[in-house]
Amino acid sequence: MIRRPSRLVLLGHPVLHSLSPRFQNAALRAAGIPLVYEGLDVAPRDLEPVLRGLRADGVAGNVTIPHKERVAAICDTLTADARRAGAVNTFWVEDGRLVGDNTDIAGVRAAVRRLLGRPPEHLPVGLLGAGGAAAAVVCAAAEWPGASIAIYNRTRARAEELAARARAVSEVEVQVAASAADAVREAALVVNATSIGLHGDALPVEPEHLAPSAAVLDLVYRPGGTELVLAARALGHAADDGLAMLIEQGALSFERWLGVAPDREVMWSSVRDGSRVD
Ligand code: NAP
Repeated sequence: MIRRPSRLVLLGHPVLHSLSPRFQNAALRAAGIPLVYEGLDVAPRDLEPVLRGLRADGVAGNVTIPHKERVAAICDTLTADARRAGAVNTFWVEDGRLVGDNTDIAGVRAAVRRLLGRPPEHLPVGLLGAGGAAAAVVCAAAEWPGASIAIYNRTRARAEELAARARAVSEVEVQVAASAADAVREAALVVNATSIGLHGDALPVEPEHLAPSAAVLDLVYRPGGTELVLAARALGHAADDGLAMLIEQGALSFERWLGVAPDREVMWSSVRDGSRVD
């Protein structure tokens, strides 16, 4: 049985930059639920004992960088999505067991649908990055009819590993590209799943390498838009940052913990006020 959690936390290292407390607390207040969602900075060496304590206390929450893969290994039960992604971003306690889920996959699905304005079909995807966020993109794309994926990552071995995992669990066509330019050259959808752009003005790919009609989804979010989103829009591409994914994965987490859907408009309004969060 799932009981209402005693607390809601975001486990990460660091967690200060996150927008999640802002929109989760706005939704909790709007729903009249007397819980507060708070960041919990946990160093990697403390993760296991902290999770044991959270399980004993019936705490639920989210997981962010760098803990998603390790939390998946520690949970007692994984949902099908968490198993496919090999990563957990949402957890709760059920009958004393720590359950791990992955709502990032559905977050990617919602963000792509919003960006394209239609269900993705026969879409060549250029994927930059091969970490936890990229794994969620691969899991989402594997469900799209006729999708193919070209992955580029700074550390090639990690891209090879992600491609091998995708081939093992789906029919999706996956290649590893030798450069970011090669990965995006023929892509109708380009997804930045690296952390480039979180701070500073570096770009994960030169926008001039994008195919003329490519849409760009930058999973990084930054008030006012990331460099990649601004540069792609300046060249006439449809481009969004990671806010839609962030809100949707958070809204689905809220539903898992509390058994009710949050007011997504309240979540959006709470982050639209333009203040900086980093
Ligand atoms: P991760 O597992 O730590 O992976 C980081 C990725 O970024 C790896 O592919 C890494 O390449 C690459 N990278 C980092 N610094 C780089 C650099 N200087 N040059 C080239 N590549 C670099 O992190 P993650 O969980 O996948 O998250 C990645 C980003 O996605 C985060 O910054 C976050 O902003 C965003 N994200 C957004 C949402 C959302 O809801 N919008 C959700 C999850 C993540 P190597 O393998 O070579 O190190």
